[in-house]
Amino acid sequence: MSDTFQMTPPRERRREPHHCDCGARFEVGHYGDPQETAIPVAVKCPRCSRSHTIAVPRGTEKDLLVELAPGPEPETGGSG
Ligand SMILES: [Zn+2]
Repeated sequence: MSDTFQMTPPRERRREPHHCDCGARFEVGHYGDPQETAIPVAVKCPRCSRSHTIAVPRGTEKDLLVELAPGPEPETGGSG
């Protein structure tokens, strides 16, 4: 754990986990209020740039942070 104090706003960016068909997991961060009306927005997978439609609180669609989620990739079972 490493926290550094900086000149940042007190509110914390919410992170919502998503996953892509390519196997990547990514998080979409925003400062929106979850009780605000959700609207659909298109984001791109950080790995393969595939387009995903997700729902975020209204007003946050212009300030989204999309980044790969930490951790190992989930195993993909099965063949074919
Ligand atoms: Zn992807």
